[in-house]
Parts: sequence; C-alpha cells; structure tokens
Amino acid sequence: MILQTQSAVDNLLPFPIALGFVAALGALIGSFLNVVIHRLPREESIVFPNSRCPSCGTAIRPYDNIPVISYALLRGRCRSCRTPISARYPAVELLVAALFALVFWHDRLTLALPFDLVFVAAIAALIFIDAEHMILPDVITLPGIGFALAARALVPNLYGLGFLSDGLLLGTPDWTVSLAGALLGALVGGGSLWLMGFLWERLRGVEAMGLGDVKMMFMIGAYLGWAHTVLVIFLAVVVGSLVGVTLMLRRGERDMQMLLPFGIFLGTGAIISLLAGHALIGWYVGRFTP
Ligand SMILES: [Zn+2]
Repeated sequence: MILQTQSAVDNLLPFPIALGFVAALGALIGSFLNVVIHRLPREESIVFPNSRCPSCGTAIRPYDNIPVISYALLRGRCRSCRTPISARYPAVELLVAALFALVFWHDRLTLALPFDLVFVAAIAALIFIDAEHMILPDVITLPGIGFALAARALVPNLYGLGFLSDGLLLGTPDWTVSLAGALLGALVGGGSLWLMGFLWERLRGVEAMGLGDVKMMFMIGAYLGWAHTVLVIFLAVVVGSLVGVTLMLRRGERDMQMLLPFGIFLGTGAIISLLAGHALIGWYVGRFTP
C-alpha cells in the first residue's frame, strides 16, 4: 500500500535520513528487547529495577546504555569491574536496527509501517526467547493475536484483501473483509500447526509441538493472512529440517526426537514472508500460469 502523497512525504524527509532514524529506533527497541529476553521468562519486571552489571551489580549509567555505541566505546567490558559483556546485546540491537531499516525500505512512510514495526519487534522477541529458553510466552503471543486482529480491522488493505473480496463477501465494508481474512489466516496458521502436533503425537506417542507454537501461528496467521501464512510454514519446515538434519549429522545423533525450538524458524519465516512474501508468492504462482 503506497500513499498517494509519497513523493511529498519523501521531499519532507529525505529517504536516507528517515531510514537512519528508523534504524536508530530499531536499535533502541533492540536494547529494550535485550531486557525483555532476559527478564520475561524469569518473571521479573521489565521496568524495574534498572539494568545492572550481572557480575559486580553496579547500576548501568544512562550514558553507558546507548545501543551498540556504548558497547563499542567500553570495548565490550563493564566500566567498573571490566568483566566482558556478552556480544549478544549489541548483536540483538544491530539485528533489530537492520530489521527496522528493511521494514521501512519495504513500507516507506505508510500506514502499514508502525504496525509492521510492532509485528517485527514482537516476532524478534519470540525468536530470541525461544532460542534461549525454549518457550514462547503467552504475554507476547496472546496480546499479539489481539494486535494482529486489530491491525487488520484498522488497516483493511494491509496485505491486500485477497480472494474473499472477489466474491464471497462482495459489497461488505473493507474492514469486515479484512477481519475475515485475518481469522482465516489465524485458522490456517494455528490450525495446521495444531494438526501437525496432534498427528505427530498420535503416530510417535510424544509431544512434538508446544501450544506456544500454535499460539504464535494464530498471531502470524491473523496478521499476514492465509497465503503468506502457508509460505511461513513452508519456509519454517524447510529451514527447520535442513538445520535439524545438519545438527544430527554433525553430532552423529540418530535421535529423531531431538527438540528444536521451532519458533525460531516460524519467526524467521514470518519476517521473510512479510518483506518478500508478495514477490515469492507471485513468482511461484507465475510458474503455473502462462
Ligand atoms: Zn561490572
């Protein structure tokens, strides 16, 4: 969705400056996500107390808490005790900055931009928490489902209205079509994940998929709609299988039940689908239509 006043907006704020601003915002959000990733699974408050050095307990001063820059200036060590700080912190900040820049590149200054930034930030948090703690917290996925439905109702053309607008709901207001599309996407996303877990459990007698993955896919499905969601699951299964097989070959493990945090692959698939879904789906469909 491109605003008709696009050129006017671009003249107001040159693209490189706006891009830098959004990337800096991403670094700040990344810094906040570092706190969320660390504290949320431990059920600590994400607001109080202020961050402290995990080694000496000294409170981190505001000027030592600037994303990426402070880490570089302090050469990766605590100012008081010189204990090395994990490189994960600036890495998360840089990654979220890059993601925000990509989303801005994709969306420009449109109504979709703030919604996509929130979506990407929530997905990034889920990926990192799943990687470290093997959980996908309800406090992110459940409000995430609500956010996705609200976004689709508020911005009806977020991902195109799809086939529902062609016939099924002809003549109804855009927001109902969009919301119906979101519900269908949630059903496709959460439903297929639930079904995969259910069948696996029946066949193998072990729990394969946590309900966290199902809730995460309700959120992704509602936000992206069913077509993009099919792509998300396809990407997640392909990449997840490749990584899983690689790990098994490397470690020489024959245990097929080794648990991989699947949320990492679902989240990565969701971000790829958000940024390149239209192009990928268009290319795929184009191969079968002369
Ligand atoms: Zn310290």
